[in-house]
Amino acid sequence: MSTLPDFRLMRPATASDAVRMRALHPSSRYLAGGTDLLPNMRRGLVATDVVIALGDVEELTGLHEEAGSLTIGVGVTLATLAANKLVQERLPALAQAAAGVAGPTHRISATLGGNLCLETRCRFYNQSEPWREANDYCMKLGSDTCRVASKSARCYAAFSGDLAPALMVLAAEVELLGPLGTRVLPIADFYREDGMAWLAMAPDELLVAVRVPLKNGWVSAYEKVRVRGSIDFPLAGVAVALRREGDALVGLRIALTGVSSRPESVSGLEAMAGHPLDDTALAIIARQVKLGTKAMETTLIEVPFRRRITPVLAKRLVERLWGMVGDNPIGPS
Ligand SMILES: Cc1cc2nc3c(=O)[nH]c(=O)nc-3n(C[C@H](O)[C@H](O)[C@H](O)COP(=O)(O)OP(=O)(O)OC[C@H]3O[C@@H](n4cnc5c(N)ncnc54)[C@H](O)[C@@H]3O)c2cc1C
Ligand code: SF4
Repeated sequence: MSTLPDFRLMRPATASDAVRMRALHPSSRYLAGGTDLLPNMRRGLVATDVVIALGDVEELTGLHEEAGSLTIGVGVTLATLAANKLVQERLPALAQAAAGVAGPTHRISATLGGNLCLETRCRFYNQSEPWREANDYCMKLGSDTCRVASKSARCYAAFSGDLAPALMVLAAEVELLGPLGTRVLPIADFYREDGMAWLAMAPDELLVAVRVPLKNGWVSAYEKVRVRGSIDFPLAGVAVALRREGDALVGLRIALTGVSSRPESVSGLEAMAGHPLDDTALAIIARQVKLGTKAMETTLIEVPFRRRITPVLAKRLVERLWGMVGDNPIGPS
């Protein structure tokens, strides 16, 4: 097993200090729980000689309900999110996604911010240095060829975080702090479809918080498939939020993870507004989810399985939520 390279550790007390330190050390990296960054440094995937640890920045660790929305600091751990009563009751997709990340020991350290900024993954990249060297490396690090799509000009490494799709269907926004101040954007706009540059965050910005509206009448859920029932990253994950009034579906959002270089919002679902959840609606859902599943050979599990499983998960979740709500909406009310 390779060892962690030497680095200088900096410990800012405030978010502004962290941003200032990053500006002074452009090749530095932020460290939150370290469950993604440290293994990647040890494997030689991330090279940095300055690490800015965010653990002492108290302003990143709050959970506040205010004016109809919940603001969650990026330093909140996944264990805390999964166990929080308000999150469980009003934003179940988020609680379920947090509860399904890795294993319990990871979730004690792993944070919301680290999960949202997680590196994209590929079976040709997330390997030891000797393995990558023996296979002549790939475009993401050390060569100019993609081993998944040899003629491709871009990397297809898959974004495999569980929380982003849940936050997308919950219509969350992210808050970023940079040297020029704060900016807020919808979480879907925080991601780009490029395995080597998947975050729409400037190098000098810090992700500070996530704001989730506590909307009336919406229910939500998250489910994923993975090789083993714990520890493993999602091969495919599906989040659904829906709103039902009587026999009509008045709102439906679906987002996917693990099947593209960014978490994908499923498009083309608006046409179902006002209609019942019948076989036609379920067929449209299956078709649109399949269209949004852009899986490439980035995992050891074959692409056809990942293309087939996302519509199955989506239909199952939609039917479960539809039946759960009935004429009497529960969940976010
Ligand atoms: C065995 C194993 C299994 C795993 N299984 C899963 C899984 O099932 N699902 C899943 O989603 N993840 C999984 N992970 C990945 C990881 O553990 C989690 O995604 C975790 O939430 C990362 O959070 P962290 O706080 O540890 O991030 P860190 O490792 O500290 O950081 C991750 C990245 O985010 C950056 N970063 C952190 N905070 C900020 C910030 N505020 N602003 C800007 N950049 C920031 C860091 O610089 C780094 O690049 C797994 C990891 C391992 C090792
Ligand atoms: S998709 Fe291609 S370039 Fe990207 S990590 Fe995999 S092999 Fe490398």
